[in-house]
Amino acid sequence: MIVMQKLFINGVWTQGKGGSFSPINPVSATVSGVFSIPSDRQISDAIEAAGNAVEARVWSGKKWHERARILEKIASTMDARIDDLARAQSVGNGKTLTECRAQARAAADVFRYYASVAETYESEITTQRTESVTFSIQEPVGVVLAITPWNSPLTLEAQKIAPILAAGNSVILKPSEVTPHVSCLYAEILQYSGIPSGVFNVLFGEREVGEKLVSHSGISMITFTGGTGAGRAIASEAGKHLRPVILELGGKSPNIILADADLDQAAKGAAAGIFSGGGQSCIAGSRILVESSVCEEFTKKFLSVANAYRYGLPDDPDAQFGAMATFQHRDKVHQMVLEAEAAGGDILLGGAIPADAPFDVGAFYPATIISGLSPDAELCREEAFGPVCVIQSFNNMDDLNALANGTDYGLAAGIWTKSANKAWSIARSIKAGTVWINTYKELSISTPFGGFKSSGLWREKGLQGMQIYMENKGIYWNFENS
Ligand code: NAD
Repeated sequence: MIVMQKLFINGVWTQGKGGSFSPINPVSATVSGVFSIPSDRQISDAIEAAGNAVEARVWSGKKWHERARILEKIASTMDARIDDLARAQSVGNGKTLTECRAQARAAADVFRYYASVAETYESEITTQRTESVTFSIQEPVGVVLAITPWNSPLTLEAQKIAPILAAGNSVILKPSEVTPHVSCLYAEILQYSGIPSGVFNVLFGEREVGEKLVSHSGISMITFTGGTGAGRAIASEAGKHLRPVILELGGKSPNIILADADLDQAAKGAAAGIFSGGGQSCIAGSRILVESSVCEEFTKKFLSVANAYRYGLPDDPDAQFGAMATFQHRDKVHQMVLEAEAAGGDILLGGAIPADAPFDVGAFYPATIISGLSPDAELCREEAFGPVCVIQSFNNMDDLNALANGTDYGLAAGIWTKSANKAWSIARSIKAGTVWINTYKELSISTPFGGFKSSGLWREKGLQGMQIYMENKGIYWNFENS
């Protein structure tokens, strides 16, 4: 019998009084847990507890280096539980354990990184231009609401929780209803490592819980990662309350192959850029833009690399990716492929739901490549969020610029070329928050990350990824009059 998972409010596991929901494991098609939902009263209780912790300064009152010690302990506790963390993610979104273990290690490193940021953080006495000595002081914003998606809760939640805590704030985490499992371990590990009661709270639920949280008067700031539609709704509600909001949203990223590129290397990079993680990544390189003179040659190489990309069961060490996170999502991806075919696209690889055991039971979908679509086709403009890419060709740099910047998104881009001049000029003309040159999908916690246009607002990661969760206060002190 599956026991109903409680909410984590004010340091106590608490039965939710607003009902429950049961996510489905997308590999086995069975229920992977039962999670309780908070009542309106419990939502307010959690926010009040988080606010009280801010007022009482139980966390923000600790010295920076004391907070750093606790963040370090979270990292080492996570290191000791990599397998538990990996399984908690895989059971929710069907990713391979190999990928989940790597993400669990990366998530522990995020806490380690922000421990060192906190340890070494310096405040400023600004240059004196009046009679007073002037200080620039940073204070925690207060209660930060973090709402997260299902594709990589391990890293995406760490990227929010660690800097929010490093800055001295309290957190309300509302994980995706598809992958709430990971957040239970975060609550356990953070409490064990010494995060005081009330400072970290977890509330489960679907969109409705998210909406109630976003509009609650006790929330000081919102940080959201998810779809662009939800991001717009959240920003619009937050705007009514003048509540700051960070948005990390969708993408339709171009991976650009110039004629002078090492085509073998580019084919490998383009395949990993779209098919790793089953394409369920905001930065997936889902548009392969190839200079026409090498398009045929590149496509052959790309197909041969892509052909070797296999989905598999989570514990298969040779599988390159797992299942899609939900059946509904897999069907949406497939529908987009069918519509692309109807719009004149040629399916060069994949494009069919597996019918063979054991994959017919789960929400699997193969690596899929489509060519021949016009740039205004849906699949060339809208995120599929699956292992599906389009190949488009261009003749010159103007063509490329129009194609590459021709969607509403601006999250990431890749450029494959041997020409430093071309690489630099394209990197500067692309409207994207991250540009990779002769590589793709490398990520570093010290490098700010986020999107242009409809891909988001502000940046996570790096030093500024912590400072964004602090208010600045200028203090003028006239010592002569004191
Ligand atoms: P989603 O927008 O459906 O849901 C994300 C979270 O928001 C969930 O917890 C959900 O319950 C909640 N939610 C949805 N609508 C809400 C509302 N109106 N108010 C408050 N909360 C609401 O996204 P998803 O399907 O879980 O994730 C996939 C999307 O996330 C893709 O578009 C992907 O590109 C994006 N994503 C972006 C990044 C990034 O860093 N830019 C990273 C990963 C995923």
